[in-house]
Amino acid sequence: MRDQIVAGNWKMNKDLNQATALVEEIQSLMMNPVEADKVIVAPPYTYLAQTAAKAAEVPGLFVAGQNCHQEMSGAYTGEISATILKSLGVDYVILGHSERREYFGESNQLLALKVKAALGQDLIPIFCCGEPLSIREAGEQQKYVNQQLTESLFQLEADDLRRLVIAYEPIWAIGTGRTASAEQAQQMHASIRKHLASKYGAEVANHLPILYGGSCKPSNAKEIFAGEDVDGGLIGGASLNANDFIAIANSL
Ligand code: PEP
Repeated sequence: MRDQIVAGNWKMNKDLNQATALVEEIQSLMMNPVEADKVIVAPPYTYLAQTAAKAAEVPGLFVAGQNCHQEMSGAYTGEISATILKSLGVDYVILGHSERREYFGESNQLLALKVKAALGQDLIPIFCCGEPLSIREAGEQQKYVNQQLTESLFQLEADDLRRLVIAYEPIWAIGTGRTASAEQAQQMHASIRKHLASKYGAEVANHLPILYGGSCKPSNAKEIFAGEDVDGGLIGGASLNANDFIAIANSL
C-alpha cells in the first residue's frame, strides 16, 4: 500500500507567534490518531527548526521546506540548500511549486538539478506538476504534465525515483476556489502513474504517492481522495487553519 499523505504549504504566511500557535494546535489535534499515514507541514524557512523539533514529538508529523537551491553551499544570497534543510531536522522539500515556476522562473531542467540535490541529502522531494488553464482548455494537459515529469525526473535511477512524492496541482485550481473534479483528478493521477510506469515499470510507479493540490478543503477532500490513484493532498489555504487541515487529513 502507498503512504497516504496530507501536506500543508504555509507559503509566506504566519509570523513567529502565529506559526508557533498553528503547529501547537496541529500537535494537540494529532494526539488523536489521524487517517493520513503522514502529515507534513511546510512553514517558512525561519520556523523550520522549531517546527521540526515539535514534529519530532508527534508520530506521523513531518516537516518540509518549500524550496531548496540546487547547490549545497556558496554565494547565493537569500537561498537555502538541501544540506541546511537537512541539518534543521527537515525530511521533505516541496520542489517545482507553480508559484516557484511562475514567479522565480524555475524550469523543468533546473528542477531536475534540485531534485538530485534534495535526494543527495536524503530529503524526499514533493515534486509538483500541473498545467495552466490554457493548456487544460486545449485538452493538452496530459502531454504538458508528462513533459514536466520527463524533463525533471527521468534522469533518475529507479531506486531514487521510488523515494519521491508527486503532487499534481492544476494551476487553475490553486488558490482560486475552483477544484478539479474528482474525475479530472483521478484521470490525471492515473496518467501520471502510467507515464512513470512507461519508463520505470509498474512496480515503481505503483509505489509512489501522488497527491492532489488545488483548493482542497474539508468539504471536498473526501470526494477527491476517493480516486484510486489519489493518495492525499497538498494543501495551501486550508492548511493555515489547524482544524481544517486535520479534517482534511481525516478525509483519507
Ligand atoms: C498550493 O498552493 O499548493 C495549493 C494547493 O493551494 P490552495 O490549496 O490554496 O489552492
